[in-house]
Amino acid sequence: KFVSREFKKSDTIIDINGYLIGGDNFMFMAGPCSVENKKMLSNIAKEVKKGGAVVLRGGAYKPRTSPYDFQGLGEIALKYLREVADENNMLVVTEAMDVENLDLICTYSDIIQIGTRNMQNFSLLKKLGKINKPILLKRGLSATINEFLLSAEYIIAHGNREVILCERGIRTFETMTRNTIDINAIAMIKELSHLPIIIDASHGTGKRSLVEPVTLAGIFAGANGAMVEVHENPDCALSDGPQSLDFKLFDKLAKNIKKSLVFR
Ligand code: PEP
Ligand code: MN
Repeated sequence: KFVSREFKKSDTIIDINGYLIGGDNFMFMAGPCSVENKKMLSNIAKEVKKGGAVVLRGGAYKPRTSPYDFQGLGEIALKYLREVADENNMLVVTEAMDVENLDLICTYSDIIQIGTRNMQNFSLLKKLGKINKPILLKRGLSATINEFLLSAEYIIAHGNREVILCERGIRTFETMTRNTIDINAIAMIKELSHLPIIIDASHGTGKRSLVEPVTLAGIFAGANGAMVEVHENPDCALSDGPQSLDFKLFDKLAKNIKKSLVFR
């Protein structure tokens, strides 16, 4: 299989407009869960850039569990992401929810995020094989490691080798946290595959106080990058406030990530 270490021994390194991920190259992605307006995005971008994030994340089209929850600003959010990222010399990652809005998202975003709920949307995966942007593929809510890797295989088999995996927690019997981060999966996938993998402890825990320790655990398990949600005023966030870091917590995490990378 294309994803396997047997097919390719050395780590895949992906160059995204000069920013590298894979091998010894660590890529830090941060930003709000949802883009709410340009000002908030701009304030968050400046803050996370200072902490070493090179990728600005933010949802424009949101896969919300309830149809009554905030669904994202749509195309205007894509414009804000592009403008703010350019102003700060950052890359954009945002989620494509379906085949219909994929082309639009490709015109604005440097990395195309595929959410946990779409990990096995096979028609979408096939289409991702035909585009020339790196894909951030999140692990399905209850996908096994094998199923996760086979979804990456779909994208590569259809022509796009630039896949970044993301461990963002899975459903278990535990209810204290939103999901259970599978640290095993990070170490296991480093053995099985040459593809880069990042840790998303925001969705993986659902609790801002746990984001730092669990991100660091992921890094020590071999993650090639991290994604975190950040908000100026998490209590007022339109989505995922409880797991969003305020600027003070982000700053502390950023410093400790830098320290942790020395030991890798
Ligand atoms: C997100 O990144 O905001 C998101 C919805 O992620 P996931 O698909 O992992 O739930
Ligand atoms: Mn979110």
